[in-house]
Amino acid sequence: MIQKKNAALVLHSGGQDSTTCLFWAKKHFEEVRALCFTYGQRHSKEVQIAQNIANEANVPFQILDATIISHLANNSLTNHQMEMDKEKPDDSYPNTFVPGRNLLFLTFAAVIARDHGIKNIVTGVSQADYSGYPDCRDTFIRSTNATINLAMDEQFIIHTPLMWLNKAQTWELADELGVLDIIKNKTLTCYNDIVAEGCGMCPACILRNKGLQEFEQLKNKK
Ligand code: ZN
Repeated sequence: MIQKKNAALVLHSGGQDSTTCLFWAKKHFEEVRALCFTYGQRHSKEVQIAQNIANEANVPFQILDATIISHLANNSLTNHQMEMDKEKPDDSYPNTFVPGRNLLFLTFAAVIARDHGIKNIVTGVSQADYSGYPDCRDTFIRSTNATINLAMDEQFIIHTPLMWLNKAQTWELADELGVLDIIKNKTLTCYNDIVAEGCGMCPACILRNKGLQEFEQLKNKK
């Protein structure tokens, strides 16, 4: 197998974070591929959105069926009957947390990357603005990186360009990459399936729109 040193596989869902990562990867690697998971998530429209963005970025796009995740445990992202927690409960995680999701996604991604001779994997997790999810933390990513390397005797590098950025800084990065309009108008972050600025009410919209306002205020001051 030919090892492509300057190639990356991006976990891409069509949301703000992963789309920013897709364009970040395009800047840093000669060859980029996008991988999108389906797992019975509420925003099923996101697969089509992710595909459209990958086409616009001129990046090969692959969909992987990971529906098994929705059969493992109950959560409000895959159980559409369940009402979503708006805030993090004091003693546990919000019911939007899908246990094991990022661990499984990164493992699947590594297997696919290996098959393409790719050693760089890019994911848009962030510890700075994380919604209390343990599998968005840097320590989890490092440990998973070590594990998949040991599991496959490879030297994968998991890149997390957003790890220490808050939402406003993620907007700033999109601006620096010259893709602010694409991220603003074509991505889907909203839990209620509304593209761009979304419903404005769900936790994802609140975080996204607050970050955008902060970024725009800072930019106007400069
Ligand atoms: Zn929303």
